[in-house]
Amino acid sequence: MKYSAIQNYINGQFVPASTTRTIDVISPVDGTKLSTVPMSSSKDLDQAVKAAKAAFPAWSKTPIKERVQVFFKYKYLIEKHLKELSELCTEENGKTYNESVAEIEKCVELAEFATSLPQLITGEVLEVSKGVECRTEHAPLGVIASIVPFNFPSMVPNWTIPNAIALGNCMIIKPSEKVPLSCGRLAELLKEAGLPDGVFNVVHGDVEIVEAICDHPDIEAVSFVGSTKVAKIVYQRATHNYKRCLALGGAKNHLMVLPDAIPAMTAQNVAASMSGCAGQRCMAASAMVAVGSVEHIIEKICEEARKIIPGQNLGAVINKASQERIESYITEAEKNGAKILVDGRRTKVDGKENGTYVGPTVIDYVTPDMSVAKEEIFGPVISIMRTNTVDEALAIENANPYGNAASVFTQNGGMARYIIDRASAGMIGVNVGVPVPREPFSFGGWNESKFGVGDITGKSSIEFWTKLKKSTTKWNPEAGINWMS
Ligand code: NAD
Repeated sequence: MKYSAIQNYINGQFVPASTTRTIDVISPVDGTKLSTVPMSSSKDLDQAVKAAKAAFPAWSKTPIKERVQVFFKYKYLIEKHLKELSELCTEENGKTYNESVAEIEKCVELAEFATSLPQLITGEVLEVSKGVECRTEHAPLGVIASIVPFNFPSMVPNWTIPNAIALGNCMIIKPSEKVPLSCGRLAELLKEAGLPDGVFNVVHGDVEIVEAICDHPDIEAVSFVGSTKVAKIVYQRATHNYKRCLALGGAKNHLMVLPDAIPAMTAQNVAASMSGCAGQRCMAASAMVAVGSVEHIIEKICEEARKIIPGQNLGAVINKASQERIESYITEAEKNGAKILVDGRRTKVDGKENGTYVGPTVIDYVTPDMSVAKEEIFGPVISIMRTNTVDEALAIENANPYGNAASVFTQNGGMARYIIDRASAGMIGVNVGVPVPREPFSFGGWNESKFGVGDITGKSSIEFWTKLKKSTTKWNPEAGINWMS
């Protein structure tokens, strides 16, 4: 085992969990056993909540301009340790080193945004009647929790850590049991950056801890990022217990390719979007709707896909179960009459025979009723459907239950606007394969890709992580009394 057994991080210390149940952490790159992760119990969560609750009065009373000093240092520390964090990310998640570097650079941007929060959360003040002033302030919520998925071991935790903490909350994070190492390292960097003990805590585990978070009376708000199936469970359970909840779910992102699209650029974007991070991005292109005569672009997409080499510029998928699930989708589509133009099944990487790889896969002549057209595959696979008109393409996009992202490839601005207005997704791209809104814009989908109000990052996250205090004051007796004062 490459690393020592993983422990929880509570009140500024690594501590063993109260249970003996653990699961192995296996690198998808080559099957190496990296560590073991404890499946903590609700007793461990209680300890973390106790520490966070004890830290809250002092942390929430620290002025925000002081609180964000931690994130200036944290940003610097992430930059300083970029190589080490990227290597760890690749080891536990399986994405390529370059993709991990991009992920860690995104963490830098997320920390940077948090340092701008003092500029963004100034309240409002107005004389609302003679001599009477009303003013608003953003108050932190208290102890909050963040539950995260496997596909971005550092970035998704950093969607919530800097903003929630800079806004004065104390946090418990529950990493994915598949990639539990990065969060421990982030805890160390936060401590080195000067974050007081108890403000940030890590509790490892699976369903039991997630349920305990949703039920805990001292946790005020829960953010969740993961599959739609679990997002629904978490949203229902947390809100049933009167907590604030924002739960981001899965996706099935459609790219609409029009005949006037620039062929080379479109092909490069489509291939990169479907294969980046081995297709394990909630913003990955998973379905493409070819409108009219775009044969020449499909050919180029296949050319681009063939340049993507597993183990070189394509990472591994998270585990064997995922590899088998993705391959079975491809096989089922083939049986149902779709044509496999580029086939990534049965991929082996020399010297990494125990790694879990799926090569880039392009499936053509998919019909909207097939599973590959409807379901999230979460692998480097694109399913191409063909239509004659933009309205038919939009009908397919609108019919899918998710709504994270959609993109159009065209040179016609009017047509792009027509599609922006009608696509049913929270994040839309024009000639962009992965339309992630960078800071200060916020990240969040629609429909079954998100449950709850607001977005998880950027300015929109301020409303989620704070509550508004409104004070009405009068200091001048001459102002008199009327029904409004
Ligand atoms: P997942 O839903 O299986 O797991 C997410 C978290 O929930 C993990 O911490 C896991 O331990 C926990 N969990 C799993 N099953 C549970 C259950 N039955 N009850 C309670 N908790 C449970 O997701 P994943 O496989 O880790 O991540 C991939 C999914 O996340 C994809 O669907 C992807 O689209 C989605 N995702 C969405 C976004 C977004 O912004 N919308 C971002 C990243 C990932």
